[in-house]
Amino acid sequence: MAADPQDSNRLPGINPELLVRECFTGEGYVFARKAEEIAREHGLERVARLASNENPEPPEKEVIEEGCRALQEANRYPDENMGELKAMLGRYHGWNHFVTGAGMDGVIETLLRLLVNAGDPVVISVPTFSFYELATIAQGGTVIRVPRDGSFNVDVESFIQKARHARLSFLCTPNNPTGNETSPDDIAGILEEIEGILFLDNAYVEFSDQDYRPLMERFDNLVIGRTMSKAFSMAGLRVGYAFVPGWILPYYRRAATPFSLNSVSAAAAVSALGDRGHVERIVRRVKGWRARYIRECSFPVLPSGGNFVLVDVSPCSGDVMTEKLAARGVIVRSCRSFKGLEDHYIRVSVGDDWECELFLDVINSI
Ligand SMILES: *Cc1c(COP(=O)(O)O)cnc(C)c1O
Repeated sequence: MAADPQDSNRLPGINPELLVRECFTGEGYVFARKAEEIAREHGLERVARLASNENPEPPEKEVIEEGCRALQEANRYPDENMGELKAMLGRYHGWNHFVTGAGMDGVIETLLRLLVNAGDPVVISVPTFSFYELATIAQGGTVIRVPRDGSFNVDVESFIQKARHARLSFLCTPNNPTGNETSPDDIAGILEEIEGILFLDNAYVEFSDQDYRPLMERFDNLVIGRTMSKAFSMAGLRVGYAFVPGWILPYYRRAATPFSLNSVSAAAAVSALGDRGHVERIVRRVKGWRARYIRECSFPVLPSGGNFVLVDVSPCSGDVMTEKLAARGVIVRSCRSFKGLEDHYIRVSVGDDWECELFLDVINSI
């Protein structure tokens, strides 16, 4: 075990192995390596950050100003109802029932707390975003993985079979990291058959041509997760929300951490939702670069509805290719840690133009 710098601060007699729950002794969430660290290690002046599906553009000036204005009243607790933000979401989407959280991750955690008892099965369509599984285990739930087919499409029949009696199931579309979309018809087919809640993760939906929102009118067991971290350029502000059926609202409130979404982030989010131009511009760029990645990359690039693509780098492993790219100034995400995915993939975001160009130049020279 690596030496922990905090070991010297440990009180005598404390044995973390005995105190900490076993589910937190594993690896945990895998973060991208820091650009500064890679630049230093390889003596590079600048590094392309294509590992975390972030938006390369900062928030608009008005959004920053609204955040600053809210900061002046930071001595007060935020509105516990997030009334202004929810009203704005209502106008933006034409739906009236929302819950909010510190990122979509915060919403996921609260839903698990609300619905899952120790030992309850939680169904997850894999390979996918790792946090559903980590958060389920932390809640004491039992993870049931349902593999996607050879092209990473959801096998609807086997998903239904596993999810039928589960209180909560997770399905991501467009899926991280594979990029593919599940049709609203397939989602409706699942919702008709299951007894519990389906959490549909739409973190990347702005970059796709699918719209799942009309399903909310038909099903009272659907929760659609959204985030302002990707298309809206606000990853650092941690704003997540979900479309929910109305019946969940009073219960969700009891399960949630009070004031989890802060007032500065909420004010910035209200402003960002007022500017559809920002997202439209970003989406145009992303679609252009997705097509160029597919056309110009010398390795097979899978079609994607997100702001990223999955690249098959076999016979290389994900880690080896990620290291090679990092040494030449491009940070991408090795997909080794995604459960249910063979280890010969990397995930590459659409970044700034120079970052995307650099990625293509570098990978095509390997
Ligand atoms: C980025 C991401 C999220 C997390 O969003 P936050 O709002 O930043 O917590 C959720 N789901 C998927 C699939 C993501 O890729």
